[in-house]
Amino acid sequence: MNTPPPITVVNVGYRSTNYWVVSAGTSRLLVDIGWPGTLGTLKAHLARVGIPLCEIRYALATHYHIDHAGLAEELKREGVQLLVLEVQLEAIPIMKTWTKPGDHYLDITEHGNIIISFEQSRLLLGQMGIAGEILHTPGHTDHCVSLVLDNGFAFTGDLPAEAYAFDNPVALASWQRLRAKGATSIYPAHGPVWPIGEAPSTPSS
Ligand SMILES: [Zn+2]
Repeated sequence: MNTPPPITVVNVGYRSTNYWVVSAGTSRLLVDIGWPGTLGTLKAHLARVGIPLCEIRYALATHYHIDHAGLAEELKREGVQLLVLEVQLEAIPIMKTWTKPGDHYLDITEHGNIIISFEQSRLLLGQMGIAGEILHTPGHTDHCVSLVLDNGFAFTGDLPAEAYAFDNPVALASWQRLRAKGATSIYPAHGPVWPIGEAPSTPSS
């Protein structure tokens, strides 16, 4: 049996937001999706790191706020499949209430979305060559999710950093869940990567 290619992580973010491309070889997942109306910018950032958009099989929004999922429908039109957790469904139509006409936001349709439960996430990721799972990690919003890889990398979106979440028991419970799954390196949606257990330089969003 062939050993799967090692996991690589590249940040293609802009405007103070990280968009992580998680890859097993050329099998790629985008974690957090881009501001509305910024497809050209995302494409430019992908081109700069040599990642063809057509290699991105799925896009996952940690939550449906415009800096994290605003570009979802445009990416779907480019052939990227939108991975939606069941807990996120109700939040999708609400996101557009945070957009202004000048944002050029394209409404996310149900068409083509891949809707899964947390229990199904490991199988789907495994089919991509990515060992890990998606967890429910509320604390910033109720519908926030995190991707945790078996190598310890955790993509936590806007989950308030543990060191600053003393008044947020929901977030602290999410951190416990992440620790139980072996999270060691935290890849947030804003700011630099940090080792779990240490305080990042900023409390994040
Ligand atoms: Zn954010």
